[in-house]
Amino acid sequence: MGISEEMVVSFGDSPKKLITCSVCLQVLWKPMTCEECENSYCTDCITQWLKQQQAMNRKHTCPNSNCEFKQKNKIPSLLVQLLSQLRVKCVNTINGCKELLPYEALDEHQLVCGFQQQLCQMRENGCKEIVLKKDIVTHGATCGYQRQECKGQVYGCKDIVLKKDILAHEAECGYIKQQCKGKAHGCKDLVLKKDLNTHEPQCNYIQLLCQSCETKYLRGDGHELMKCLQNQIKNLANEMQKSNANDNQQKTLIDQLKEETRLLKVNEEEQKGVNTKLLKEIRLLKASDTQQKILIDQLKEETRLLKGKHQFNLIWFQVALMLKPHIKIALTPAEIGREIFGCLIISMPDSR
Ligand SMILES: [Zn+2]
Ligand SMILES: [Zn+2]
Ligand SMILES: [Zn+2]
Ligand SMILES: [Zn+2]
Ligand SMILES: [Zn+2]
Ligand SMILES: [Zn+2]
Ligand SMILES: [Zn+2]
Repeated sequence: MGISEEMVVSFGDSPKKLITCSVCLQVLWKPMTCEECENSYCTDCITQWLKQQQAMNRKHTCPNSNCEFKQKNKIPSLLVQLLSQLRVKCVNTINGCKELLPYEALDEHQLVCGFQQQLCQMRENGCKEIVLKKDIVTHGATCGYQRQECKGQVYGCKDIVLKKDILAHEAECGYIKQQCKGKAHGCKDLVLKKDLNTHEPQCNYIQLLCQSCETKYLRGDGHELMKCLQNQIKNLANEMQKSNANDNQQKTLIDQLKEETRLLKVNEEEQKGVNTKLLKEIRLLKASDTQQKILIDQLKEETRLLKGKHQFNLIWFQVALMLKPHIKIALTPAEIGREIFGCLIISMPDSR
C-alpha cells in the first residue's frame, strides 16, 4: 500500500499523477518500476498483483499495460526527485507524533519514532498492555508482570513470582524471616516462617497461662506449684469478696422488691374494701329487686283472690236476694248467704 493523500502535508511541485500507484491509487511507497513501460508501483502492490496473476495462471503482465513486468534496476531519477519534494506526516500521528518528514526520512523515522505502539515485553508473563515505545521503560518499571525475587529467595524460596503477586506471596512464603511471638517478652531470634511452628513451642519467651490459677508466666521462668497454690487461694478470696458484694446488691434489690410488693398489697387491700362495699350495694340492690318481686307477686295474688271473692260474693248475694221473700226472719242477704253457704264461706281465703 502507498501513502494516503491525507498524510501528505505538501506535494511541492510534484504532479500527483506521476507519483500515484495505479494499483492502490495512493502515493507510491517504495516504488518499483517496470523496465518495459516505465510505470512505477508500490513494492507491496506489484508483488501482490503478480501473485494474483500467477494464481490465475496468467502472464506477469503490468497492471497498467500489456507488457510483461520486469523490475528495472534503478528507479527513474525524475520519480526520486518528485517524491523527495513531499512532506509527510509520521504514521504514528494518531498516537501523538507531530513529526513532518521528507519522503526519504520516513523509513528511518519509523524505526525510532517514540509514538509507535508496542506490546509490553512482559507479554509472555501475561501483560496485555499496549504501550507507546517512548513509555516502554516507565511501564516496565511498574509492570506487574515482571518477575521479582521473593525476600525469601536467599533462605531457600524457589518460587518464581510476578511483581503484582509478590506481596501476597511474601505474606504466605515460609522462607521469610520473622520474629516469634516471644518478641514482646525478649526473644530476639529471627525465625523462618516455616520454622515458627517448631520454634514457638520451645521458645523460653513465650507467655503461658496456667489453667489452675489463671496466671500468665514465661516458659523460661517456669511456674512453681507453691506460687500456683497461693494464687489460687488469692483468687478464691477475691471471688468470695465479689460474691459478698453481689449478695449485698441482691439483698438491696430484694428489699426494694419487698417494699414494692408491700405497697402493692396495701393498695390491693384498699381496693378490696371498695370492692366489698360495691358488692354489698349490688347485693342490696338485687335483694330489694327480689323483695319487690315478692311484693308484686303478693299483690297479684291478693288481687286475684279479691277478684275471685268478689265474684263469689256477687253470686251468693243474688241467691240470697232470691231467697229473701221466702224467709220470715229478718236477715241481711249476707246473713242469709252465711246461713246457706256457711261452709263455703268459711273455706274462702278471706271470709271475715
Ligand atoms: Zn510494464
Ligand atoms: Zn500502491
Ligand atoms: Zn513519528
Ligand atoms: Zn507490562
Ligand atoms: Zn518466597
Ligand atoms: Zn522465640
Ligand atoms: Zn498456676
